[in-house]
Amino acid sequence: METNFDVVVIGSGPGGYVAAIRAAQLGYRTAIVEKYDTLGGTCTNVGCIPSKALLDSTEHFHDATAKFSLHGIEVSDLKLNFDQLMKRKSEVVSQNVSGLSYLMNKNKIEVVTGTASFLDNTQVSIRHNDGNESQLTARYFIIATGSKPASLPGIEIDKKRIISSTEALSLTEKPKSIVIIGGGVIGVEMASIYARIGVKVTIIEYAKSLIPTMDLELGKELKKVLTKNGVEILVGHKVQSGKNTGDAVTVSFLDAADQAQEITADYCLMAVGRKPYTTGLGLENTAIQTDEKGRIVTNAQLQTAEANIYAIGDVIAGPMLAHKAEEEGVYVAEIINGQKPEIHYNLIPGVVYTWPEVAAVGQTEEELKAQGIAYKKGKFPFSASGRARAAMEPDGFVKVLSGEKYGEILGVHIIGPRAADLIAQPVIGMHYETTDEDMFRMPYAHPTYSEALKEAYLIASGQGALNL
Ligand code: FAD
Ligand code: NAD
Repeated sequence: METNFDVVVIGSGPGGYVAAIRAAQLGYRTAIVEKYDTLGGTCTNVGCIPSKALLDSTEHFHDATAKFSLHGIEVSDLKLNFDQLMKRKSEVVSQNVSGLSYLMNKNKIEVVTGTASFLDNTQVSIRHNDGNESQLTARYFIIATGSKPASLPGIEIDKKRIISSTEALSLTEKPKSIVIIGGGVIGVEMASIYARIGVKVTIIEYAKSLIPTMDLELGKELKKVLTKNGVEILVGHKVQSGKNTGDAVTVSFLDAADQAQEITADYCLMAVGRKPYTTGLGLENTAIQTDEKGRIVTNAQLQTAEANIYAIGDVIAGPMLAHKAEEEGVYVAEIINGQKPEIHYNLIPGVVYTWPEVAAVGQTEEELKAQGIAYKKGKFPFSASGRARAAMEPDGFVKVLSGEKYGEILGVHIIGPRAADLIAQPVIGMHYETTDEDMFRMPYAHPTYSEALKEAYLIASGQGALNL
């Protein structure tokens, strides 16, 4: 096997594999090192893909139990086959993993299985899974080693009763109850999966609202919808400890009035964030620095303190999102190539795959207020959309925030059906620095969910809605 490359990428998640493909497209002899037997990293194996597979399956089940009869579809003896649910999820993951192997082959990227550790800034040792070691040298390295689940002080993720999203995506039996610590993205997505199939789910969130880093109105609406679907949501509660008691887990917390409380469930899912992963990477043999959160420090070109070593994705600062990692992967390959690419961090959308979905781009209302930026607001509820009525999807809204003087789009926040796909339109609009008026002076197909965007742009512009 070749041991000397132009570019060696460490980690095969969405950051790493995209960086490798772009480097290969630009003519570099490229290798990718992955310590697991399958390519794809967190996103493909234990993140985005399996969670979306389970979200889709459980949404079908929920519709069949809660909505079909309203459409005049009568189903009797409806049963959930939990094994099949998990089996399909695993098949979806395998299809995606195989797709990545195909892409590596197609782009002539050398795939090396093993754990990479820097010996110096030009060489890594690879500890292969059969115990053997080898070395690779390269002109450039791209670190894309991702992140791992975080926990709270005093609560150890034992993977038995106190679990992370990885275990929650692969349970072997349907539990009766789950308590989820953290009402961020993982918390609400996993709550949706399990509540829809009849599991008693409680979310304990420290902040005053769910998904607290997004626009606050989104979290408020999501709380309403999840509560309606049977999820118990405790916001403003402080978890103190969690104890595996053998066949259950007990979580102790302080409620909103600072009273000590306890809750017992089959599982406790820790969903309080993720931490960057650099264990065993041999950074101590280089000049590369990490910050107080353990993230690799880079400059604006994503270059570390070693000029030929770059870092991307969850292991550096910024939102821990697959598409952010991908943007950075392409960016770094092009920087190495002497190009002048750009990443528009303010245009990276955030999406939560609950139902209804939540999606946002740009600044929140809270951020605009804090920065003293004068803005206009256009909010249109899906209950007033003909398409949403036809589909019986009345929950949620589109909220457009635009500059007071020129009407430039500053942020768009959606909770509603197909929000994850709708958000692409405001991203394009903001990319081209459009105004609210630019955005409504174009045709929108009728009846579609996208018309809710048009109405919100119309309201924000001051012209007024046509359907509200
Ligand atoms: P990772 O995907 O974490 O990949 C890093 C890879 O590096 C791993 O395969 C690891 O084994 C390997 N590695 C580490 N150290 C070494 C070493 N020394 N040598 C060799 N290999 C090494 N994001 C979204 O945008 N949309 C979603 O819907 C979404 N859903 C998610 C759901 C869940 C449950 C979770 C946990 C995350 C989700 N995310 C989602 C976040 C997303 O998975 C991450 O942001 C993304 O995977 C980060 O990509 P990455 O390339 O930086 O790292
Ligand atoms: P997160 O940061 O989204 O949410 C963590 C939540 O835990 C926050 O709401 C926080 O207030 C809460 N919390 C912290 N300490 C707490 C305590 N002591 N008690 C109760 N609550 C506490 O992190 P996550 O949900 O674990 O997800 C990890 C990462 O994975 C995120 O960065 C996210 O972007 C990414 N992810 C993305 C998607 C997606 O894009 N759809 C899906 C899943 C995960």
